[in-house]
Amino acid sequence: MKALQTVAGGLARRKLDAMLVSAGPNIRYLTGFTGDNAALLVLPGRSILVTDPRFEIQSAQETADVGCRIRISRSPLMLDVAGAVKRAGVRRIGYEPGRMLCEAYEFLKSKLPMRASLEPVRGWIEELRMVKSAEELARIRRSVETNSEAFEQTVSRVRPGIRESDLAAELEYRMRRLGAEKPSFDTIVAGGTRSALPHAQPTSARIESGQLVVVDMGALQDGYCSDMTRMLFFGRPGPKVKHMYHAVLEAQLSAIDAVRAGASTARVDRAARQVLKRHGLDRAFVHSTGHGLGLEIHEPPRIGRKDKTKLAAGMAITVEPGVYLEGFGGIRIEDTVVVTENGCEILTPTSKELRMI
Ligand code: ZN
Ligand code: ZN
Repeated sequence: MKALQTVAGGLARRKLDAMLVSAGPNIRYLTGFTGDNAALLVLPGRSILVTDPRFEIQSAQETADVGCRIRISRSPLMLDVAGAVKRAGVRRIGYEPGRMLCEAYEFLKSKLPMRASLEPVRGWIEELRMVKSAEELARIRRSVETNSEAFEQTVSRVRPGIRESDLAAELEYRMRRLGAEKPSFDTIVAGGTRSALPHAQPTSARIESGQLVVVDMGALQDGYCSDMTRMLFFGRPGPKVKHMYHAVLEAQLSAIDAVRAGASTARVDRAARQVLKRHGLDRAFVHSTGHGLGLEIHEPPRIGRKDKTKLAAGMAITVEPGVYLEGFGGIRIEDTVVVTENGCEILTPTSKELRMI
């Protein structure tokens, strides 16, 4: 895998002798290993993956074509990492401060030779992960298709009176039947005034006629995430819902229009915010316009007001403006898109019309 060589080759420029990678998705990206207990020590000439005996067979299989050594640890992983550091005689070791438990950090520090130091390195591997390879994009595409198909199969049978939690369970069951490992995050289904909670958990409440319903769901397939939000209306919506819906849709289309290689993420965010402002709804838009996704559901870049990342072809991001009125309800529309040189490709095939049940 090329990315591992990129990290090894980039050590000197960062004045590091080694890089300790702790985040599971980063380890997976660099080595292919999918187990949930590992540490990866990247050294200039070689890399060492430390994991425990449960993953002995799996780690050998998954990293076969990567060329990293595997060390099966029968003690805390960090003891083996410290041993590898000692044997390699390295001094400056980068680590991921946002991805390592304090306990592991303290333990490792106490076991390192006196001359060795731990240097915080933020977001290095995450930055490499922002632009996806063709294979990664193919996986994201499949994940998006599964997710939208699960939505379609479920929503076409929904009737008033269904519980939020039953609707969420049905969506997740369908996506698994269609090939997903699991949802990429806990499915959000929220009806009526609860739709004004941007990250509501489904409850046992029944969705009745006259209610707006937010469905925010994603699949995890072949390790890659999708993310989509669609709105349902049980019955016929009144003028206020229609106005809100069209404002959010216009904002979402305007933000999608602003996506292209070279555009800043703040520019995309501003495109959505300006439309909502014209409709007097900008203060009800309480989150950022989107986020990158891939091995994780939230990855850089963030598409927010203050985010200056320049978009590049091959980035996979979401575009998801929303407005939330306490005591009334909320509306969000979200697609997964891939940045191209001249714009973007919208992967999500699901119609953006307000779906009436
Ligand atoms: Zn979402
Ligand atoms: Zn999202």
